[in-house]
Amino acid sequence: MTLKKAVFQAGDPVIFFDKKERSYYAILEAEKIQNIRGDFIPHDEVIGREDGVTLFSQRNKPVHVFRATLSEQVLYMPRGAQVVYPKEIALITTYADIFPGAKVVEAGLGSGALTSGLLRAVGEKGTVVSYEIRDDFINNASKNLKNFFGGMPDNHIIRQMDVYEQFEDADADRLVLDLPEPWRAIENVTPHLRSGALICCYIPTILQVKTCVDELIRSRCYIQIQVIETLEREWKVDNVSVRPSQRMVGHTAFLVFARRVEFGVQPVQPAKSARVEAERALKQ
Ligand code: SAH
Repeated sequence: MTLKKAVFQAGDPVIFFDKKERSYYAILEAEKIQNIRGDFIPHDEVIGREDGVTLFSQRNKPVHVFRATLSEQVLYMPRGAQVVYPKEIALITTYADIFPGAKVVEAGLGSGALTSGLLRAVGEKGTVVSYEIRDDFINNASKNLKNFFGGMPDNHIIRQMDVYEQFEDADADRLVLDLPEPWRAIENVTPHLRSGALICCYIPTILQVKTCVDELIRSRCYIQIQVIETLEREWKVDNVSVRPSQRMVGHTAFLVFARRVEFGVQPVQPAKSARVEAERALKQ
């Protein structure tokens, strides 16, 4: 898996950045000409040059070329399903503590946006397993991941399975659910998570959050349940005019985090007290 290349090659995802600070995303391709609002830059002039190179169009306008960052890749990638935005990818990787070497399971794969962040965070020694039911989404996400990583990462596994019914991954360290009804997966996946594992559910509406939290509590297998949302507001700094941008990335989704505990050994426990449950588990 090649993450960074100082020198551009065909197949690299790049951003052409013009004088007016506008970004244009492209995958470098031999013989292709980049049209930047009437300014032309042949991709062949970029290939072989270093990240950050400044080139001049036929109208002598400067254009900077950068390797696309994870955030840019997510925002510009062709979408099958709605993507998880960079602001949530940042929170998920930190609050769900996605660490180098971790075994992370996610559902669903969608466009592969979150997957890119998870793969980055687990590094080459970790593994990401993605459950997805739709083959058109699997194809689109595979192309996106190939573009971003310069080939299919060999530590990424895709399972075309319904996570509400099937689950094949024992001892996952982290589980991230971004699918329409995450609470429906909890009963099925919980027995396969190791104790201490962290779970994160990405949920667009607050009534769904309530359903999800109720299910986590009902399973008696999770503690430290935390619900977070984040709003991103950019600021413009233009001489003495220093103010928030008129537009912002407002609501996208809520994030529900929880931690798997050991004593809930069965996937869904009848309503007994946690103390009785803990004592029973200790006797085993
Ligand atoms: N996190 C993704 C977007 C996921 S959108 C990204 O950042 O790009 C939700 C995805 O869940 C869709 O692709 C949908 O097909 C998939 N999905 C829905 N129900 C599912 C199920 N029961 N099992 C597995 N995947 C499912």
